[in-house]
Amino acid sequence: MMQQLELRDDLVQPFQIDPFQLRGRLVRLGPLIDEILTRHAYPAPVAQLLGEAIALAAALARALKYDGVFTLQTKGDGPIRLMVADITTAGGVRGYAQVDDEKLARVLAAAASSGQPVGDSVPRLLGAGYLAFTCDQGEHTDRYQGIVELQGATLAECVHHYFRQSEQVEAGLKVAVARLPDRHGLPRWRAGALMIERLPAAESAARREAEDEGWRRAVILMSSTTSGELVDPLLAPAALLFRLFHEDGVRAYRPRPLVARCRCSRERVETMLRILAPQELEEMKVDGKVLVTCQFCSAVYSFDESEIAALARH
Ligand SMILES: [Zn+2]
Repeated sequence: MMQQLELRDDLVQPFQIDPFQLRGRLVRLGPLIDEILTRHAYPAPVAQLLGEAIALAAALARALKYDGVFTLQTKGDGPIRLMVADITTAGGVRGYAQVDDEKLARVLAAAASSGQPVGDSVPRLLGAGYLAFTCDQGEHTDRYQGIVELQGATLAECVHHYFRQSEQVEAGLKVAVARLPDRHGLPRWRAGALMIERLPAAESAARREAEDEGWRRAVILMSSTTSGELVDPLLAPAALLFRLFHEDGVRAYRPRPLVARCRCSRERVETMLRILAPQELEEMKVDGKVLVTCQFCSAVYSFDESEIAALARH
């Protein structure tokens, strides 16, 4: 008998493999990623890459305590100028991309004529630029930031490069985004990510050797996961972990739910507008109103003449 309804989508499943001295996180995104990517209606290659960024952010946001926000951001000179994905301690996830439509059209046309699809190519979609991680835990704690150049064919490779370069942590990463038909045959975005990370090594040489061996084995097993398995709606995350690592004593912890949630509010928009000079506010007016659209969730905040005047008085 089933003890409880198994949570399959929109979650992070932490796990640990003690004999290998490693921990990991498996991310599975269903309705959450479909809501975010469908709302923005980006061209498919952009949606694909933003989906990867969001799944990777969810897999990496392990260090958060208190009321923190973990942000993954890319900036480049390619068609996707900017990508932001962030996740809160409470599991609220959001993301958006800024696209140069002309550049994207050129890249897609070149890909079509060469017969080589763009896929999730970082060099073609993001170009040269950087990848940044920010861990913000409120005003009373340090804001941590790490930045590396975009180096790698895929976003997962770029993140891997960051770990080697900046954190000197051995890590393995895999990410997948796909659009699959749901029960009614409608196409829905899905995403998944698997991350393993090596914990500080044992002191004894013999133990260390066993851990090296274990790490190599874990990387091979992780690499054997297919993209299909990472996004499969019928394969529960715990079942996937068991399939991969059951011989090695994997311990799966309680999965943490994730939800698509924006943190924008009228108050935040007001705070932002108050910083502007009166003439700047004046220039933003269209038909006597200032309209501010949230880039993450497309919510529109409208301010009329009297509200703008009130803002300017502060
Ligand atoms: Zn918003």
